[in-house]
Amino acid sequence: MTNNGGAVNPFETAQRQVDICAKYLNLDAGMTEILKHPKRELTVNFPVRMDNGSYRVFTGYRVQYNMARGPTKGGIRYHPQVTLDEVRALAAWMTWKCAVVSLPYGGAKGGVICDPKAMSKGELERMTRRFASEISPIIGPEIDVPAPDVYTDSQTMAWIMDTYSMQKGYSVPGVVTGKPLSIGGSEGRGEATGRGCMYVIREAAKDLGLNMKGASVAVQGFGNAGSVAAKLVHAELGGKIIAVSDTKGGILNKNGLDPVAVEKYKQEKGSVVGFPGSQKISNNELLALDCDVLIPAALENQITRENASSVKAKIIAEAANGPTTPEADEILHKNKVTVLPDVLANAGGVTVSYFEWVQDLQGYFWDVNDVNSRLERVMSGSYRGVAEVAKKHGVHNRTAAYIVAVGRVVEAMRVRGIYP
Ligand code: GLU
Repeated sequence: MTNNGGAVNPFETAQRQVDICAKYLNLDAGMTEILKHPKRELTVNFPVRMDNGSYRVFTGYRVQYNMARGPTKGGIRYHPQVTLDEVRALAAWMTWKCAVVSLPYGGAKGGVICDPKAMSKGELERMTRRFASEISPIIGPEIDVPAPDVYTDSQTMAWIMDTYSMQKGYSVPGVVTGKPLSIGGSEGRGEATGRGCMYVIREAAKDLGLNMKGASVAVQGFGNAGSVAAKLVHAELGGKIIAVSDTKGGILNKNGLDPVAVEKYKQEKGSVVGFPGSQKISNNELLALDCDVLIPAALENQITRENASSVKAKIIAEAANGPTTPEADEILHKNKVTVLPDVLANAGGVTVSYFEWVQDLQGYFWDVNDVNSRLERVMSGSYRGVAEVAKKHGVHNRTAAYIVAVGRVVEAMRVRGIYP
């Protein structure tokens, strides 16, 4: 995936976002400083036996950013470019995300530096189990609950759940979410990030008077978040998906692509590139397409100072975490582009993770309609709350979401007090 702002450190971005909202909340310097630092960070270096019999040492992280509102929550990412600062940023964003949709959670994130595409299933299983074992002292249903993120999935979660349960001597489904249904996963969790994103796009379009029927949509990234968002915006809102992309590049068809057919093509060929009837474009070209809705659904730092002014979309719905830098936010705001920030637009995933955890703790499971209607209520209610604050303070939606989220975290910290 292209990474225009390669030099941008995501943790510095995350810290600046706290500074930006601090003045609206009248936070003093001490409180602001606390909110700009993760509470707990664990780095682990661990050996894994590779298929050829050799041993390789992998480095992984788990960062628990803030737990004032409850157990920490957030995914585990497998990627060659994982850094501690990236995981810190992602853990901060999980904290604000859980608060913006009012989940009783703090935020955390994990990552392992590896290239999962170049590893066998056996190697991935051994790496996952050893990483789970290394972080097991600080995870648990009441402590910190991992979930899938970039290049991890329900199988990864099943291995973590099993490893943790083996150590305990009994099954602990609530230690991770995003599990397969057969071991305590939730209906609707697999598509929850994309579905939640679709709901906030629908609400924002209503406010802007944008008819989503036939509206043109471009999606950067065709993984769990992007592919589901594309399919649901197409199927449920009537949007026309004109472009999608993955790490190998993008495809364009101004008359509209069938996202289900594109997904099938990618499953068979390994990429969306080459899809019949489409024209090849770069990831950068995709971001600058003339379209109504742009959905960045890949990695951080995609819309930066360099390319923000070339964005022509009316709405940017951030299915990815951290795709837009603070400088880009200002440019987009000036150009009247409505940004639906990551902490709101992709909160559907963690919302259904919360539902999964609740179901696990109760041992009582809901049907998919129950899950989706509760998700819809959470997403549209949270969107309304953010939009109202944006209007009240005359700020863009990201700052508004931070005013809501950071305000809730601060309230929890104030009422608890600073120990001792
Ligand atoms: N990795 C997802 C996110 O960034 C989901 C986290 C979770 O469900 O805990 O929001």
